[in-house]
Amino acid sequence: MIQEKGSISIHTENIFPIIKKFLYSDHEIFLRELVSNAVDAIQKAKRLASLGQFHGEIGAPLVQVKVDKEAKTITVSDNGIGMTADEIKKYINQIAFSGAEEFMEKFKEAKDASEIIGRFGLGFYSAFMVADKVEIQTLSYQPGAEPAQWTCDGSTEFEISAGTRTTRGTEVILYVNDENKEFLEDGRIESILKKYAKFLPVPVQFGTKTESEPDGEDAEGEPKYKEVEVPNIINTGVPIWTIAPGELKKEDYLNFYRELYPFSEDPLFWIHLNVDYPFHLTGVLYFPKIKNDIELQRNKIQLYSRQVFITDEVKDIVPEFLMLLHGVIDSPDIPLNVSRSFLQSDSNVKKINTYITRKVADKLAELFKSDRKSYEEKWGDIGIFVKYGSISDPKFWERAKDFVLLENTKKDYFTLSEYREKVAPNQTDKDGNVVYLYTPNPERQDGYIQAANKKGYDVLLMNSPLDNHFISHLERDLEKTQIKRVDADVLEKLIDKGEEVASNLSEEQTKEIKDIYEKAITQPGMEVTVENLSPEAMPVTVTMDEFMRRMKDMAALGGGGMSFYGSMPDRYKVAVNANHPLVTKILSETNGDTRNALAQQAFDLALLAQGMLTGPALTSFVERSMKMI
Ligand code: ADP
Repeated sequence: MIQEKGSISIHTENIFPIIKKFLYSDHEIFLRELVSNAVDAIQKAKRLASLGQFHGEIGAPLVQVKVDKEAKTITVSDNGIGMTADEIKKYINQIAFSGAEEFMEKFKEAKDASEIIGRFGLGFYSAFMVADKVEIQTLSYQPGAEPAQWTCDGSTEFEISAGTRTTRGTEVILYVNDENKEFLEDGRIESILKKYAKFLPVPVQFGTKTESEPDGEDAEGEPKYKEVEVPNIINTGVPIWTIAPGELKKEDYLNFYRELYPFSEDPLFWIHLNVDYPFHLTGVLYFPKIKNDIELQRNKIQLYSRQVFITDEVKDIVPEFLMLLHGVIDSPDIPLNVSRSFLQSDSNVKKINTYITRKVADKLAELFKSDRKSYEEKWGDIGIFVKYGSISDPKFWERAKDFVLLENTKKDYFTLSEYREKVAPNQTDKDGNVVYLYTPNPERQDGYIQAANKKGYDVLLMNSPLDNHFISHLERDLEKTQIKRVDADVLEKLIDKGEEVASNLSEEQTKEIKDIYEKAITQPGMEVTVENLSPEAMPVTVTMDEFMRRMKDMAALGGGGMSFYGSMPDRYKVAVNANHPLVTKILSETNGDTRNALAQQAFDLALLAQGMLTGPALTSFVERSMKMI
């Protein structure tokens, strides 16, 4: 006997074709929505019970999902508060959005399913993405309530009548259509549940599974086992972010991490997030061992809303540089299902960004302060991340100035202020700029490094993929500071203290040696200069101007607007040391061939020191050397 027929109150066109048409991309979320509703209904029952407003037995809370392949149905049931017929009318029939007009306007712009569903509270109606007909059987917790049923075949017509349910709670039955029969496979449903429901606060059961259980001993005294059917509970994970940090041990955090990322190395450390005001957010963020493959590590943060998995694309919600972190963020205040552009301008999202950045900075500052040694040991991993944050987020940089470390070639670590104090006395040039020297490759630039060290200069190690950017960033930010690669010029010019070194050569001799070198060097892009350097310096040094080299490095990394530099041929400076004994020797050599060979040899040695001597040039160097010895 049908009690009531009616029409779902959307007075524009039929909503279901819209739902089906526009909600194509992620059909699977219907299950997330229905299971969430079921959990909510149970949580409401528990809350009422705790307020003393619930009469009768609350029983063991359970959400059950069942698939009947023959009947082509999926059923989601719960023992929550249930609904009366009036409540069905109120909550289900009057689709919970402010106005159908607005909806019809907005759906045109919507790009994916979740956008419509979240924005307009269509959670329940997402069932129609996969089902042609949906049925609700429900019995309210309220004393004397009658069971009610609701069916709808995907038109705007529905029917409400007396239901059949005998126990409190709700059952939603989906008659799955042929296009969506993939959802009638147990494996598919189980994997969707595992994805979205792993950490839900109420047990979610999907059928049963067999387990073996001890069953006494056999005749020989060996233990026997028997197969037993046990409920297959999906959400066995412990959502540790909901537990107070004081109650958690190190092992709990590690176990949780291993559960989230079974194939990863253990993390370095973690931050437990917990805010109530001005927004709600909980979570645990882990610092992974980053190494150098930044790209691989992204998209590892999972976003939850009240323990329901939403997405692992947290771009825009988490600051860009924190995308390298792993872990879980849970916030009911993030507008989960709206478009990206909306997210970026959302004030809660901005506050969340600021909060997370501050927490991360706090944690790093604390680690640095409380145990500098272990902080230094972890710097190899933390460094990339701190540098990334420093470059990309001015607020973070303000904090990071205190805990960003510079490492030198001797593996000593300095804060920015410590380093300045260390090098300022000996590395200040005639204009008052403190010059920091660095090497991206201590192996290859050993000669330059040793020469610099001999002069009492310190050399920083800058060999991470971000260091090019980080160096520019430091230079922009630190006052009266220049940063130069250790091979950017001859040592005397690298830090120009304005000390004039007298020349051993007459003007004529200077011209002559320049001439000799210009003839001897056949490679393109080499500009010869004669310089008055100390007699201990190399006779010939090949350098590339710091600015030029940096532009080329940036161009190679794909920096915007830099391609101009990338296409320019390399240009090097060949500095001939006027004061080196070898230069005097070359000039006094009367045999033209020997003179050329000596000049060539000194040039090749300079190339060799730069790692630039390769191919035929290397071969002829080896041959010439053989002859000479
Ligand atoms: P939302 O969950 O965003 O409010 P839904 O369309 O999913 O929107 O559900 C509308 C309403 O229907 C819910 O707020 C709730 O009052 C009621 N409802 C849905 N599912 C259940 C259920 N399993 N048990 C009790 N009430 C339910």
